[in-house]
Amino acid sequence: MTKSLPVGATVGILGGGQLGRMLAVAAARLGLKTHVFEPGADAPAGDVAHQVTTASYEDEAALTAFGKAVDVITYEFENIPTAALDLLETRAPIHPGRQALATSQDRLTEKTFLQELGLQTAPFAAVANAADLEAAIASIGTPAILKTRRLGYDGKGQARIMSPDDAAAALADMAGAPAILEGFVNFSHEVSVIGARGPDGAVSCYDPGENVHDAGILRTTTVPAKLSPSQRTDAVLIAARILNALDYVGVMGVELFVTAQGLIVNEIAPRVHNSGHWTQNGCTICQFEQHIRAVAGWPLGDGSRHADVVMENLIGADMDRVPELAKTDAAIHLYGKAEVKPGRKMGHVNRVIKA
Ligand code: AMP
Repeated sequence: MTKSLPVGATVGILGGGQLGRMLAVAAARLGLKTHVFEPGADAPAGDVAHQVTTASYEDEAALTAFGKAVDVITYEFENIPTAALDLLETRAPIHPGRQALATSQDRLTEKTFLQELGLQTAPFAAVANAADLEAAIASIGTPAILKTRRLGYDGKGQARIMSPDDAAAALADMAGAPAILEGFVNFSHEVSVIGARGPDGAVSCYDPGENVHDAGILRTTTVPAKLSPSQRTDAVLIAARILNALDYVGVMGVELFVTAQGLIVNEIAPRVHNSGHWTQNGCTICQFEQHIRAVAGWPLGDGSRHADVVMENLIGADMDRVPELAKTDAAIHLYGKAEVKPGRKMGHVNRVIKA
Protein backbone atom coordinates (compact mmCIF):
# COMPACT_ATOMS: atom_id res chain seq x y z
CA MET A 1 0.00 0.00 0.00
CA THR A 2 1.17 3.51 -0.85
CA LYS A 3 2.19 5.56 2.14
CA SER A 4 0.52 8.92 2.17
CA LEU A 5 2.59 11.72 0.67
CA PRO A 6 3.50 14.58 2.98
CA VAL A 7 2.70 18.17 2.16
CA GLY A 8 5.44 19.45 -0.13
CA ALA A 9 5.81 16.14 -2.00
CA THR A 10 5.64 16.15 -5.80
CA VAL A 11 2.98 14.55 -7.96
CA GLY A 12 4.12 13.86 -11.53
CA ILE A 13 1.42 14.32 -14.16
CA LEU A 14 1.78 12.81 -17.63
CA GLY A 15 -0.04 15.12 -20.04
CA GLY A 16 -0.33 18.87 -19.82
CA GLY A 17 -3.85 19.56 -21.11
CA GLN A 18 -6.82 20.96 -19.22
CA LEU A 19 -7.23 17.87 -17.05
CA GLY A 20 -3.60 18.11 -15.99
CA ARG A 21 -4.11 21.81 -15.32
CA MET A 22 -7.08 21.24 -13.03
CA LEU A 23 -5.25 18.37 -11.28
CA ALA A 24 -2.28 20.68 -10.67
CA VAL A 25 -4.52 23.36 -9.17
CA ALA A 26 -6.14 20.79 -6.86
CA ALA A 27 -2.72 19.46 -5.82
CA ALA A 28 -1.50 22.97 -5.05
CA ARG A 29 -4.51 23.53 -2.78
CA LEU A 30 -3.37 20.50 -0.78
CA GLY A 31 0.16 21.85 -0.51
CA LEU A 32 1.54 19.35 -3.01
CA LYS A 33 3.80 20.27 -5.90
CA THR A 34 3.24 19.07 -9.45
CA HIS A 35 5.65 18.29 -12.25
CA VAL A 36 4.01 18.01 -15.67
CA PHE A 37 5.50 15.94 -18.51
CA GLU A 38 4.16 17.01 -21.89
CA PRO A 39 5.55 16.77 -25.43
CA GLY A 40 3.72 19.86 -26.73
CA ALA A 41 4.74 23.46 -26.13
CA ASP A 42 2.53 25.91 -24.19
CA ALA A 43 0.79 23.20 -22.19
CA PRO A 44 -2.33 24.46 -20.33
CA ALA A 45 -1.08 22.65 -17.20
CA GLY A 46 2.30 24.32 -17.48
CA ASP A 47 0.84 27.67 -16.38
CA VAL A 48 -0.04 26.30 -12.95
CA ALA A 49 2.46 23.49 -12.30
CA HIS A 50 5.60 23.78 -10.17
CA GLN A 51 7.70 22.31 -12.95
CA VAL A 52 7.24 21.28 -16.58
CA THR A 53 9.28 18.90 -18.72
CA THR A 54 8.71 19.43 -22.43
CA ALA A 55 9.89 16.21 -24.07
CA SER A 56 8.61 13.29 -26.09
CA TYR A 57 7.55 9.96 -24.58
CA GLU A 58 10.51 8.41 -26.45
CA ASP A 59 13.04 10.61 -24.64
CA GLU A 60 14.45 8.16 -22.10
CA ALA A 61 16.73 10.67 -20.41
CA ALA A 62 13.85 13.10 -19.90
CA LEU A 63 11.58 10.33 -18.61
CA THR A 64 14.26 9.12 -16.18
CA ALA A 65 14.87 12.62 -14.84
CA PHE A 66 11.12 13.17 -14.46
CA GLY A 67 10.70 9.84 -12.67
CA LYS A 68 13.49 10.73 -10.24
CA ALA A 69 12.02 14.16 -9.51
CA VAL A 70 8.53 13.00 -8.48
CA ASP A 71 7.09 10.94 -5.60
CA VAL A 72 4.15 9.46 -7.49
CA ILE A 73 3.07 9.49 -11.13
CA THR A 74 -0.43 9.97 -12.47
CA TYR A 75 -1.78 10.93 -15.89
CA GLU A 76 -4.52 12.84 -17.62
CA PHE A 77 -4.90 10.62 -20.70
CA GLU A 78 -4.79 6.89 -21.26
CA ASN A 79 -2.71 6.57 -24.41
CA ILE A 80 0.72 6.77 -22.85
CA PRO A 81 3.21 4.58 -24.74
CA THR A 82 3.93 1.29 -22.94
CA ALA A 83 7.72 1.67 -23.16
CA ALA A 84 7.51 5.02 -21.34
CA LEU A 85 5.45 3.41 -18.57
CA ASP A 86 7.91 0.51 -18.31
CA LEU A 87 10.70 2.98 -17.68
CA LEU A 88 8.74 5.26 -15.36
CA GLU A 89 7.45 2.50 -13.11
CA THR A 90 11.02 1.67 -12.11
CA ARG A 91 11.29 5.19 -10.68
CA ALA A 92 7.99 5.95 -8.94
CA PRO A 93 4.60 4.32 -8.35
CA ILE A 94 2.05 4.93 -11.13
CA HIS A 95 -1.60 5.43 -10.16
CA PRO A 96 -4.04 4.40 -11.53
CA GLY A 97 -2.11 1.19 -12.23
CA ARG A 98 -1.01 -0.54 -15.41
CA GLN A 99 -3.98 -2.92 -15.52
CA ALA A 100 -6.43 -0.03 -15.71
CA LEU A 101 -4.39 1.59 -18.47
CA ALA A 102 -4.02 -1.59 -20.50
CA THR A 103 -7.74 -2.30 -20.15
CA SER A 104 -8.88 1.11 -21.31
CA GLN A 105 -6.30 1.59 -24.06
CA ASP A 106 -7.89 -1.09 -26.21
CA ARG A 107 -11.64 -1.20 -26.77
CA LEU A 108 -11.57 -4.97 -27.31
CA THR A 109 -9.72 -5.63 -24.03
CA GLU A 110 -12.05 -3.18 -22.29
CA LYS A 111 -15.28 -4.73 -23.56
CA THR A 112 -14.01 -8.25 -22.82
CA PHE A 113 -13.05 -7.21 -19.27
CA LEU A 114 -16.47 -5.62 -18.67
CA GLN A 115 -18.30 -8.66 -19.97
CA GLU A 116 -16.24 -11.00 -17.81
CA LEU A 117 -17.22 -8.85 -14.83
CA GLY A 118 -20.85 -9.64 -15.63
CA LEU A 119 -21.65 -6.14 -16.88
CA GLN A 120 -23.69 -5.39 -19.98
CA THR A 121 -21.95 -3.96 -23.04
CA ALA A 122 -22.96 -3.47 -26.68
CA PRO A 123 -22.50 -6.72 -28.64
CA PHE A 124 -19.01 -6.60 -30.14
CA ALA A 125 -16.53 -8.43 -32.34
CA ALA A 126 -12.89 -7.88 -33.28
CA VAL A 127 -12.33 -6.74 -36.87
CA ALA A 128 -8.91 -6.92 -38.54
CA ASN A 129 -10.01 -7.23 -42.17
CA ALA A 130 -12.93 -7.35 -44.60
CA ALA A 131 -13.73 -11.00 -43.88
CA ASP A 132 -13.91 -10.33 -40.12
CA LEU A 133 -16.18 -7.36 -40.77
CA GLU A 134 -18.51 -9.38 -42.95
CA ALA A 135 -18.75 -12.09 -40.27
CA ALA A 136 -19.23 -9.49 -37.52
CA ILE A 137 -22.04 -7.76 -39.42
CA ALA A 138 -23.68 -11.14 -40.02
CA SER A 139 -23.69 -11.92 -36.29
CA ILE A 140 -24.26 -8.44 -34.80
CA GLY A 141 -26.43 -6.93 -37.54
CA THR A 142 -26.85 -3.27 -38.46
CA PRO A 143 -26.91 -0.46 -37.52
CA ALA A 144 -23.51 -0.86 -35.95
CA ILE A 145 -20.40 1.23 -35.31
CA LEU A 146 -16.90 0.33 -36.37
CA LYS A 147 -14.31 1.84 -34.02
CA THR A 148 -10.53 1.68 -33.94
CA ARG A 149 -9.46 -0.43 -30.96
CA ARG A 150 -6.91 2.16 -29.88
CA LEU A 151 -6.44 5.92 -29.84
CA GLY A 152 -10.03 6.97 -30.49
CA TYR A 153 -11.58 9.82 -28.53
CA ASP A 154 -14.42 12.32 -28.91
CA GLY A 155 -15.99 10.17 -31.65
CA LYS A 156 -12.75 10.06 -33.70
CA GLY A 157 -11.82 6.79 -35.39
CA GLN A 158 -15.46 5.73 -35.69
CA ALA A 159 -17.66 4.91 -38.67
CA ARG A 160 -21.36 4.11 -38.64
CA ILE A 161 -22.58 1.14 -40.64
CA MET A 162 -26.26 1.58 -41.38
CA SER A 163 -26.40 -1.38 -43.79
CA PRO A 164 -23.90 -4.03 -44.97
CA ASP A 165 -23.29 -1.81 -48.03
CA ASP A 166 -21.43 0.65 -45.78
CA ALA A 167 -18.88 -1.97 -44.72
CA ALA A 168 -16.10 -1.23 -47.23
CA ALA A 169 -16.17 2.54 -46.62
CA ALA A 170 -16.19 2.04 -42.84
CA LEU A 171 -13.22 -0.30 -43.04
CA ALA A 172 -11.35 2.21 -45.22
CA ASP A 173 -11.96 4.84 -42.50
CA MET A 174 -9.99 2.68 -40.05
CA ALA A 175 -6.91 3.10 -42.30
CA GLY A 176 -5.72 -0.42 -41.55
CA ALA A 177 -5.92 -0.07 -37.76
CA PRO A 178 -7.33 -3.04 -35.80
CA ALA A 179 -10.98 -2.33 -35.06
CA ILE A 180 -14.01 -3.49 -33.15
CA LEU A 181 -17.57 -3.64 -34.43
CA GLU A 182 -20.18 -2.64 -31.88
CA GLY A 183 -23.89 -3.20 -32.23
CA PHE A 184 -25.83 0.04 -32.04
CA VAL A 185 -27.32 0.50 -28.58
CA ASN A 186 -30.82 1.90 -28.55
CA PHE A 187 -30.45 4.17 -25.53
CA SER A 188 -32.75 6.85 -24.17
CA HIS A 189 -29.88 8.92 -22.78
CA GLU A 190 -26.28 8.76 -21.66
CA VAL A 191 -25.03 9.08 -18.10
CA SER A 192 -21.68 8.74 -16.42
CA VAL A 193 -20.45 7.96 -12.96
CA ILE A 194 -17.25 9.48 -11.67
CA GLY A 195 -15.92 7.07 -9.07
CA ALA A 196 -12.86 7.17 -6.86
CA ARG A 197 -10.97 4.46 -4.99
CA GLY A 198 -8.22 4.96 -2.46
CA PRO A 199 -5.23 2.68 -1.86
CA ASP A 200 -7.02 1.33 1.22
CA GLY A 201 -9.89 0.13 -0.99
CA ALA A 202 -12.32 2.87 0.05
CA VAL A 203 -14.72 3.72 -2.78
CA SER A 204 -16.65 6.94 -3.25
CA CYS A 205 -18.81 7.71 -6.28
CA TYR A 206 -20.30 11.03 -7.33
CA ASP A 207 -23.93 11.28 -8.29
CA PRO A 208 -24.39 10.19 -11.92
CA GLY A 209 -24.48 13.02 -14.46
CA GLU A 210 -26.48 13.09 -17.68
CA ASN A 211 -24.41 13.77 -20.79
CA VAL A 212 -25.38 15.34 -24.10
CA HIS A 213 -22.94 14.99 -27.00
CA ASP A 214 -22.79 16.89 -30.25
CA ALA A 215 -20.71 15.52 -33.12
CA GLY A 216 -19.09 13.05 -30.68
CA ILE A 217 -17.98 15.82 -28.28
CA LEU A 218 -19.47 16.28 -24.81
CA ARG A 219 -21.64 19.42 -24.78
CA THR A 220 -23.32 19.38 -21.37
CA THR A 221 -23.47 17.35 -18.19
CA THR A 222 -26.49 17.81 -15.92
CA VAL A 223 -26.81 16.58 -12.35
CA PRO A 224 -28.93 14.97 -11.16
CA ALA A 225 -29.34 12.68 -14.19
CA LYS A 226 -32.78 11.39 -15.12
CA LEU A 227 -32.60 8.00 -13.41
CA SER A 228 -34.90 5.97 -11.20
CA PRO A 229 -33.63 5.29 -7.67
CA SER A 230 -32.73 1.72 -8.65
CA GLN A 231 -30.90 2.86 -11.80
CA ARG A 232 -28.98 5.38 -9.71
CA THR A 233 -27.91 2.66 -7.30
CA ASP A 234 -27.09 0.34 -10.17
CA ALA A 235 -24.91 2.98 -11.87
CA VAL A 236 -22.88 3.47 -8.74
CA LEU A 237 -22.56 -0.27 -8.09
CA ILE A 238 -21.31 -0.81 -11.65
CA ALA A 239 -18.60 1.81 -11.16
CA ALA A 240 -17.62 0.33 -7.81
CA ARG A 241 -17.38 -3.15 -9.29
CA ILE A 242 -15.02 -1.91 -12.02
CA LEU A 243 -12.88 0.04 -9.54
CA ASN A 244 -12.53 -2.97 -7.25
CA ALA A 245 -11.82 -5.44 -10.07
CA LEU A 246 -8.93 -3.27 -11.25
CA ASP A 247 -7.63 -2.69 -7.69
CA TYR A 248 -7.87 0.90 -8.84
CA VAL A 249 -6.35 3.96 -7.18
CA GLY A 250 -7.65 7.33 -8.37
CA VAL A 251 -10.68 8.71 -10.14
CA MET A 252 -12.35 6.95 -13.06
CA GLY A 253 -15.10 7.96 -15.48
CA VAL A 254 -17.62 5.27 -16.40
CA GLU A 255 -19.90 6.09 -19.34
CA LEU A 256 -23.24 4.30 -19.42
CA PHE A 257 -26.13 4.04 -21.87
CA VAL A 258 -29.58 4.04 -20.25
CA THR A 259 -31.82 1.49 -21.98
CA ALA A 260 -35.03 -0.40 -21.31
CA GLN A 261 -32.81 -3.46 -20.74
CA GLY A 262 -30.81 -1.70 -18.03
CA LEU A 263 -27.52 0.18 -17.94
CA ILE A 264 -25.00 -0.70 -20.61
CA VAL A 265 -21.36 0.26 -20.13
CA ASN A 266 -19.99 2.22 -23.09
CA GLU A 267 -16.47 2.90 -21.92
CA ILE A 268 -14.25 3.58 -18.97
CA ALA A 269 -11.64 6.31 -18.65
CA PRO A 270 -8.88 5.74 -16.06
CA ARG A 271 -8.62 9.41 -15.16
CA VAL A 272 -10.58 12.49 -14.24
CA HIS A 273 -13.28 13.01 -16.82
CA ASN A 274 -14.96 15.89 -18.63
CA SER A 275 -18.35 14.71 -17.38
CA GLY A 276 -17.09 15.20 -13.80
CA HIS A 277 -16.27 18.90 -14.13
CA TRP A 278 -19.59 19.78 -12.45
CA THR A 279 -18.13 18.52 -9.16
CA GLN A 280 -15.97 21.67 -8.98
CA ASN A 281 -19.05 23.67 -8.06
CA GLY A 282 -21.50 20.99 -6.91
CA CYS A 283 -19.44 19.17 -4.27
CA THR A 284 -17.18 20.01 -1.38
CA ILE A 285 -14.40 17.85 -2.82
CA CYS A 286 -14.24 17.91 -6.63
CA GLN A 287 -13.02 15.07 -8.84
CA PHE A 288 -9.59 16.68 -9.25
CA GLU A 289 -8.91 16.90 -5.52
CA GLN A 290 -10.37 13.42 -5.05
CA HIS A 291 -7.95 12.04 -7.63
CA ILE A 292 -4.96 13.79 -6.06
CA ARG A 293 -6.02 12.57 -2.61
CA ALA A 294 -6.24 8.98 -3.87
CA VAL A 295 -2.92 8.92 -5.74
CA ALA A 296 -1.19 10.70 -2.84
CA GLY A 297 -2.55 8.11 -0.40
CA TRP A 298 -4.70 10.61 1.47
CA PRO A 299 -8.21 9.67 2.64
CA LEU A 300 -10.92 10.25 0.04
CA GLY A 301 -12.92 13.41 0.65
CA ASP A 302 -16.65 14.06 0.85
CA GLY A 303 -18.00 13.75 -2.69
CA SER A 304 -21.65 14.26 -1.85
CA ARG A 305 -23.51 16.71 -4.07
CA HIS A 306 -24.82 19.90 -2.45
CA ALA A 307 -26.40 21.47 -5.54
CA ASP A 308 -27.88 20.76 -8.93
CA VAL A 309 -25.44 21.77 -11.66
CA VAL A 310 -25.37 22.11 -15.44
CA MET A 311 -21.85 21.96 -16.88
CA GLU A 312 -21.47 23.33 -20.40
CA ASN A 313 -18.27 22.89 -22.41
CA LEU A 314 -16.93 25.94 -24.22
CA ILE A 315 -15.81 24.58 -27.56
CA GLY A 316 -13.99 26.54 -30.27
CA ALA A 317 -15.79 29.82 -30.98
CA ASP A 318 -17.78 29.50 -27.73
CA MET A 319 -14.84 31.47 -26.33
CA ASP A 320 -16.43 34.59 -27.85
CA ARG A 321 -19.25 34.19 -25.31
CA VAL A 322 -16.95 34.54 -22.29
CA PRO A 323 -17.50 38.31 -21.79
CA GLU A 324 -21.28 37.73 -21.66
CA LEU A 325 -20.92 34.64 -19.47
CA ALA A 326 -18.83 36.68 -17.07
CA LYS A 327 -21.89 38.85 -16.40
CA THR A 328 -23.92 35.79 -15.27
CA ASP A 329 -23.83 33.55 -12.20
CA ALA A 330 -21.99 30.81 -14.11
CA ALA A 331 -18.66 29.66 -12.67
CA ILE A 332 -16.13 30.02 -15.48
CA HIS A 333 -13.21 27.62 -15.91
CA LEU A 334 -10.88 28.44 -18.82
CA TYR A 335 -7.93 26.33 -19.88
CA GLY A 336 -5.54 29.05 -21.02
CA LYS A 337 -5.26 27.70 -24.57
CA ALA A 338 -3.81 30.35 -26.84
CA GLU A 339 -5.31 29.14 -30.09
CA VAL A 340 -9.03 28.67 -30.71
CA LYS A 341 -9.77 25.79 -33.08
CA PRO A 342 -13.11 24.30 -34.13
CA GLY A 343 -13.95 21.36 -31.87
CA ARG A 344 -11.23 22.30 -29.35
CA LYS A 345 -12.25 22.31 -25.70
CA MET A 346 -11.35 25.81 -24.48
CA GLY A 347 -13.08 25.83 -21.11
CA HIS A 348 -16.36 25.11 -19.38
CA VAL A 349 -18.93 26.80 -17.22
CA ASN A 350 -20.79 25.35 -14.26
CA ARG A 351 -24.23 26.77 -13.58
CA VAL A 352 -25.36 25.99 -10.07
CA ILE A 353 -29.14 25.70 -9.99
CA LYS A 354 -30.33 27.48 -6.89
CA ALA A 355 -33.22 25.93 -5.00
P1 AMP B 1 -17.21 6.61 -27.63
O1 AMP B 1 -16.02 7.23 -28.28
O2 AMP B 1 -17.19 5.13 -27.65
O3 AMP B 1 -17.48 7.16 -26.25
O4 AMP B 1 -18.47 7.07 -28.51
C1 AMP B 1 -18.85 8.42 -28.63
C2 AMP B 1 -20.36 8.53 -28.67
O5 AMP B 1 -20.89 7.78 -29.78
C3 AMP B 1 -21.06 7.95 -27.45
O6 AMP B 1 -21.11 8.86 -26.40
C4 AMP B 1 -22.45 7.63 -28.03
O7 AMP B 1 -23.24 8.80 -28.12
C5 AMP B 1 -22.12 7.14 -29.42
N1 AMP B 1 -21.93 5.68 -29.40
C6 AMP B 1 -20.77 5.05 -29.21
N2 AMP B 1 -20.93 3.72 -29.24
C7 AMP B 1 -22.23 3.48 -29.45
C8 AMP B 1 -23.03 2.30 -29.59
N3 AMP B 1 -22.50 1.05 -29.54
N4 AMP B 1 -24.35 2.46 -29.79
C9 AMP B 1 -24.90 3.70 -29.87
N5 AMP B 1 -24.20 4.84 -29.76
C10 AMP B 1 -22.89 4.76 -29.55
